[in-house]
Amino acid sequence: MKTIIEGGIDLETHAQGGLRSCIDGRFVGATRRAFEQVTGLGTDDYYHASNAGGVAAPSEGGIKSEDDLVHLGRGVRILGWQGHLDVCGGFPGERDSVLVRRILTGFVERVDRYPDANHHGFVARLGPNETREIDVYTPQDARRFLAKNKTTISLRDGRR
Ligand SMILES: [Zn+2]
Repeated sequence: MKTIIEGGIDLETHAQGGLRSCIDGRFVGATRRAFEQVTGLGTDDYYHASNAGGVAAPSEGGIKSEDDLVHLGRGVRILGWQGHLDVCGGFPGERDSVLVRRILTGFVERVDRYPDANHHGFVARLGPNETREIDVYTPQDARRFLAKNKTTISLRDGRR
């Protein structure tokens, strides 16, 4: 007989990466696969925390504090930050054009806050025929986008 133990990995000592995403279940699976594809990490190799709004929400909004993502397992140096379009419960009534700026502004804030890590930004959205599409941003991509779209969104103004 073989016993399969799920969730037995001690992420506190073994996590190599951290991912923060919105709790919206439409995008969690696709976001995890995108993060794994971009980083080469396996599904048990990283710590995943989710909150309403993901990276677009202030860092205090998470189930776990954001520092957990970085400091759990000492030496976590691969971080993913996700938010999504197509209606987010973290920002009721917000248009996609505003959501994408919130997401990328939050992403760049985290990049600046944790300068020793490698960062990947993810903007998830609905595609045709029930597909999910994930736009992957480097920090440079995000800064370029925000420079072109002049309106600056402060996270402190975020509706919670
Ligand atoms: Zn959401």
